[in-house]
Amino acid sequence: MAHTRVKELYEPGTLPPAGSVPELMYAAVIRQDRLGPPDKAIRTEVVPVPEVGRGQVLVHVMAAGINYNNVWASLGRPVDVIAARMRLGDPVDYHIGGSEGAGIVWAVGEGVRHVKVGDEVVLTSAQWDETSPDIRLGTDPMASSTQLAWGYESNFGTFAQYALADEYQCLPKPAGLDWVDAASLMCTGATSYRQLCGWPPHVVEPGDPVLIWGGAGGLGSMAIQIVRYRGGRPVAVVSDEARAEHCRRLGAVGTINRRDFDHWGRLPSVDDTEAYRGWLDGAKRFGAQIWEALGERRAPRLVLEHSGQDTLPTSMYVCATGGMVAICGGTSGYNGDLDLRYLWMRQKRLQGSHFASLRECRQVVGLVAEGVLDPCRTVIGTLDDVGYAHQLLHDNRQPPGNLVVRINSLPD
Ligand code: NDP
Repeated sequence: MAHTRVKELYEPGTLPPAGSVPELMYAAVIRQDRLGPPDKAIRTEVVPVPEVGRGQVLVHVMAAGINYNNVWASLGRPVDVIAARMRLGDPVDYHIGGSEGAGIVWAVGEGVRHVKVGDEVVLTSAQWDETSPDIRLGTDPMASSTQLAWGYESNFGTFAQYALADEYQCLPKPAGLDWVDAASLMCTGATSYRQLCGWPPHVVEPGDPVLIWGGAGGLGSMAIQIVRYRGGRPVAVVSDEARAEHCRRLGAVGTINRRDFDHWGRLPSVDDTEAYRGWLDGAKRFGAQIWEALGERRAPRLVLEHSGQDTLPTSMYVCATGGMVAICGGTSGYNGDLDLRYLWMRQKRLQGSHFASLRECRQVVGLVAEGVLDPCRTVIGTLDDVGYAHQLLHDNRQPPGNLVVRINSLPD
């Protein structure tokens, strides 16, 4: 759709004339020559505002949520996302992250029919090619071979004055939600919702015990509330008392401090009898703490996993017979060991789970708008603080819940 280009660079919080798009914008940028800790890798720069293509919308970003994926993008591992994109022919040699946010539709590309300039939207975190053969044959778009994590695998996310999204990523922002709440709920809220409700028959039912790793983190804070809403009994794992307190306030029936155990990490060989026994003792003691938290000898029917290598062996061990471990990340590493005997003889399920469908995203926005879920967000600062906010996650020094930065919605 026609819009004029204006030459100026506008300061964050300043609107260009209606119908015009600036040439330049401020953005929190990652470049290959400074990959490393987020506070070094991410810097505010002035870059061109991206062109809007067919089916795309340009969003004037008001606030952006901080997520762990751009810790990985900063470090350049396990994947250098810039190199990966450029190998596929994309000429842009820098990365603007940001997989969630809220803002105002500022320009729309050809073929966009369901959103218009001026709409206030909440942005979802995954992209796909709606014309791909697998989606046309009925595949869940999240399982499409074309699916990408927006603002991580694809460029021009919300850590900039303008983000480039596909039309279907725009959900209407409920009027009662302010910009920072709306920006903070999607990535962790929808991901944990799918882990807990998206994999029948292993969905949270009333009375189900559910183990939640990182209970005070972004995913964990949303997960505790979702489990409570569904009538389940969340047990949260944390690393200090302040975080335990946060989890109890959200509805955890009990908490476990992982610092009280030392059996974390890769599983010893079953042939190393002594080392294996040491691991098993740790896992059993951990299981007993779950019983204590629940007040009964029951194992969790569902385990919300994302901590990965350090915890997966224990997750698979403590999960109830016939239960499910749903995993969406590997914060502590990617080599997740299993003692396969527990998997098949106790008929457990290990389910990979990645972000969420558009339906699940809408359901989570609705639950936050109705006040059922508190996004538990802390505003960390503005665009210039994107690197610092990711460094907090990298160092596990973040306050409980979700972090958010203001981009164009500056405080009065
Ligand atoms: P946060 O940093 O907010 O929380 C993670 C929590 O994990 C921390 O609070 C910490 O809690 C806990 N933790 C850290 N290290 C370990 C460890 N070695 N063992 C056990 N627990 C640990 O991150 P998020 O909740 O936003 O995300 C968590 C993970 O999930 C990340 O790896 C992220 O990339 C992934 N993710 C994946 C998504 C997807 O769509 N696939 C979407 C969102 C997140 P404490 O120290 O108190 O135990």
